[in-house]
Amino acid sequence: MVSKKWVYLFHELEQAEKYVGGDWENVRGLLGGKGANLAEMARIGCPVPPGFTVTTEACNAFQAKGEFPEGQWDQMMVALKEVEKATGKKFGGAENPLLVSCRSGAKFSMPGMMDTVLNIGLNDDTAKGMIKLTQNERFVYDSYRRLIQMFGSVVLGMPDEAFEDVLDEYKSLKGYKLDIDLTADDLKELVIEFKKVVRKHKGFDFPQDPLQQMRLATEAVFKSWQGKRAVDYRRATNIPDDLGTAVNIVTMVFGNMGMDSGTGVAFTRNPSTGEKKMFGEYLLNAQGEDVVAGIRNTEQIVNMAKDLPEAYKQFMEITAKLELHYKDMQDVEFTIERGRLWMLQTRNGKRTARSAVKIAVDMVNEKLIDKTEAVNRISPEQVDTLLHPQFDMDTKKVAKKEGRFFATGVNASPGAAVGRIYFDADTAERMSKEEKQDVIMVRPFTKPDDVHGMLAAKGILTSEGGATSHAAVVARQFGVPCVVGASAVKIDQEKRLMTCNETVVKEGEWISVDGTSGEVYIGKLNLTVPSLDEQTELLTLLTWADEICAQPGIRKAGNGPTTGLQVWANADYPKDARRARSYGAKGIGLCRTEHMFFETNRLPIVQRMILAKTSEDRTAALNELLPTQRSDFDGLFEAMDGLPVIIRLIDPPLHEFLPSADELKEKIITTRVQNTAAYLLGKGDSKEVVALEKMLAAVESLHESNPMMGLRGVRLSIAMPEIVEMQVRAIFEAACDCTLRGIKVRPEVMIPLTGHINELKWIQPRLVEIAKKVMDEKKVSFTYKFGTMIEIPRAAVTAEEIASVAEFFSFGTNDLTQMTFGYSRDDAERSFLVQYVESGILPKNPFQTLDQDGVGRLMMMAVESGRKTRPELEVGICGEHGGDPASIEFCHTIGQNYVSCSPFRVPVARLAAAKAALKYSSGKVNTDL
Ligand code: PEP
Ligand code: MG
Repeated sequence: MVSKKWVYLFHELEQAEKYVGGDWENVRGLLGGKGANLAEMARIGCPVPPGFTVTTEACNAFQAKGEFPEGQWDQMMVALKEVEKATGKKFGGAENPLLVSCRSGAKFSMPGMMDTVLNIGLNDDTAKGMIKLTQNERFVYDSYRRLIQMFGSVVLGMPDEAFEDVLDEYKSLKGYKLDIDLTADDLKELVIEFKKVVRKHKGFDFPQDPLQQMRLATEAVFKSWQGKRAVDYRRATNIPDDLGTAVNIVTMVFGNMGMDSGTGVAFTRNPSTGEKKMFGEYLLNAQGEDVVAGIRNTEQIVNMAKDLPEAYKQFMEITAKLELHYKDMQDVEFTIERGRLWMLQTRNGKRTARSAVKIAVDMVNEKLIDKTEAVNRISPEQVDTLLHPQFDMDTKKVAKKEGRFFATGVNASPGAAVGRIYFDADTAERMSKEEKQDVIMVRPFTKPDDVHGMLAAKGILTSEGGATSHAAVVARQFGVPCVVGASAVKIDQEKRLMTCNETVVKEGEWISVDGTSGEVYIGKLNLTVPSLDEQTELLTLLTWADEICAQPGIRKAGNGPTTGLQVWANADYPKDARRARSYGAKGIGLCRTEHMFFETNRLPIVQRMILAKTSEDRTAALNELLPTQRSDFDGLFEAMDGLPVIIRLIDPPLHEFLPSADELKEKIITTRVQNTAAYLLGKGDSKEVVALEKMLAAVESLHESNPMMGLRGVRLSIAMPEIVEMQVRAIFEAACDCTLRGIKVRPEVMIPLTGHINELKWIQPRLVEIAKKVMDEKKVSFTYKFGTMIEIPRAAVTAEEIASVAEFFSFGTNDLTQMTFGYSRDDAERSFLVQYVESGILPKNPFQTLDQDGVGRLMMMAVESGRKTRPELEVGICGEHGGDPASIEFCHTIGQNYVSCSPFRVPVARLAAAKAALKYSSGKVNTDL
């Protein structure tokens, strides 16, 4: 039986492509990102050390059975022969030995989360051969002791300290400070000591057989796919568990062969800011881990131009070629062995949100990608990050004056974070999850084992490491503000405190970390929201997003609009409307008018209106409210000049405007106590108490067991039409006044909580009459609409009838979710809902992400049947889901006209709307725009 092909040499890329059907994503799935890119680099002529990839399919087969699948090892042996041929070296040979690395590489890069073993093939014999060959005994024994240590920790599961302790003891015995002080003889001695450590811990010897080394290392890399840190990382990044990792066996090249050798990591553009300038670090006479671990002080990559000019020139040419080839910023690893450059890895570099947006926009301007690709490359979450709060200059100036400046380091991941410090990942995670604290994780440096703490943290501070250190890379990827390498900070893990220039901060105390500037402050600094106007690249990208959505024909023609979704905003006050507009909103989808009633100067009037015994008294109170409501609406129309403004009539139950019964009872008692003397003298209750009693009686009469399903929305309007009559008058008077001032108005009056067509039939004509009357009085005319919210399942089910009266629909998905599930939106999250989501009973919190199968189905039905009656029916959403990218995508697919969300979410929603339009496009997309 011919076994499956588990192993591909780098130059067998065509075969891999053929096997998966040509698609590059599938090639990456089979060979892993690293393997696929090494093979691709080899194909386009970059210098890649010979090697081969064991596929992710082999890994999955190994996970299932606990052993290599049939044929894998034999195929590895055949491939190894080819590598021997290509290099002219022999694996395990004493004369010209081949050494290899065994590197993990999943489809999606998981930096540092899985294992790698270097220098495989070294043993007592090959070490001698290497010495003869290189004439560099120190280098060979250094490589050998590194192999034993790496093999011990990665493959044999031994603690790193087992070796570190021996090394430290040896150095102090010899009076050395640095590893570099160790001589060839020292390292030779350390090899012997390290071998003893293995024997002591494992009860067997470090394997001398190179093939056994390779076999065990391959197994260990496969197993690391299931390691805790890899699993944690996958959870956080939504990488599926069943992808598996590939294993790459790559010929070792050495950056530690003298001053004509070196190694480095670099990004073709700045991963923090996006600036088009090579960004990276390198070290002369060093191996890769020295750069990444941040143990030695690295050099900036530009300095390589004078140290190794030839190799630098070639490096710049190759990286430019790689960027052009992949049409994206590359993150590369390279080694120079005796002047010769070798590329060890390339991948699309991880970057901050700011950098991602700049690079995408720049690449459109450089004609590398088109606008639709730029929009596709940015996620709504990245846009959200860019609008996250920052510390402004003034706040920092004040903090400095107050002596609260603590330390400075490398600004590794931008953004501002305020939290309590914790010194290890487990505590950081626990404090965040269990104690619901805002946490800043503080470490000397981070390792992949710390990822769970980093994810739980609002911010990260390290005292060591540089801009490409583990902490920096991971923090940038997850958008966690991070300062690294704050070298003046001394961390005392035992005493659980840190100091900088005499200032001590203890575990649990507050600090503020500015990942944009690299500064750290003591205590809590105030945060401010960044302005969109200053973010020119983001503005450009969002303009492209709008252009994509506005293309007629981008949505498949059907019953509904053929352009993409518009983004409107929920705004109650003119200042919110102005912000919404500056963030790009194309209308107001919900103005909750009752919020205006809560203002301190208005509430007493509203209460008087509620307590009124007669319609006349009520109207009198409402007449007092009319001018203020009118000026609220005036401000909204003015801010939105010409754009639609949906104003919702009063919705909540009236008791929300009154104090609670308990509060009133307590107040009556205390007031009576204050007035005891008068009371005892038979003068009776004071006026104040009488008023309170009256209020209490009203509150008790309005009491409902289930107010969310009680007298609210349209029901309240029918029971007490005077309120909405006043509101409609205010809306239309304001609209007329604006029109007379030359401001364009497009009012849309929204009736909430309709469940039956007859409710609308009762109230709407009365309100339309008032609207017409006001326009007649003012001799002004403009177009307007009266419509309803769809918040009750019955309304969705009977939408065909409802649309005969309502001129527009807006899904109030907060209530629609509540009513469809029968979950109280006020209580569910406090009781069972969190547990439901954690245990997988529900895939997501339905109050955050639309439940497409249930609530969504009702919405789909409502849109379809509503448009049967009224083909031009305008449909939108104004529940919280209007700002959630997955829900926005759904709204696009069911043919809505717009989504409406909080002003701060508008930029996120604009991008999400464009991405949905592209994802489901009819194919008629103009990519030039
Ligand atoms: C809704 O129910 O989705 C809605 C927008 O209205 P409110 O949240 O004010 O009830
Ligand atoms: Mg509602």
